[in-house]
Amino acid sequence: MDRIFSKIVSFNQSGLGGCLIRLILFGIFLATIGLGWLLHGLLVVLAVTLTLLVISWFVFSWWLKRKIVESACPACNYEFMGFTGKKCTCPNCRESLVVEGGKFKRLSSIGAIDVQIVDVADN
Ligand SMILES: [Zn+2]
Repeated sequence: MDRIFSKIVSFNQSGLGGCLIRLILFGIFLATIGLGWLLHGLLVVLAVTLTLLVISWFVFSWWLKRKIVESACPACNYEFMGFTGKKCTCPNCRESLVVEGGKFKRLSSIGAIDVQIVDVADN
């Protein structure tokens, strides 16, 4: 008997096992004093919370897969990620892009060249 008790105590001191034993003992205690319904309520709340967390995780990952697009830049073929319907800039060549139909498209027309105007003073 003393051996079993010392084993339970040593198991009780190890992290998760101790937590589980305390929960089980707490549940037995609640059931013996007629508060089993409280334990059932707590378990239902825990189950509903876990279910909602799992469902929200799946919804979030589905939304993220729809929103994030990985494609190549039409100007330099550099692959990167962007959000659907948002303007972005290619991190490689600084081309202004927008995500349409799962691919990047240029905002400026092909062949347009950005020039810097330099004012030359008359001499
Ligand atoms: Zn680029």
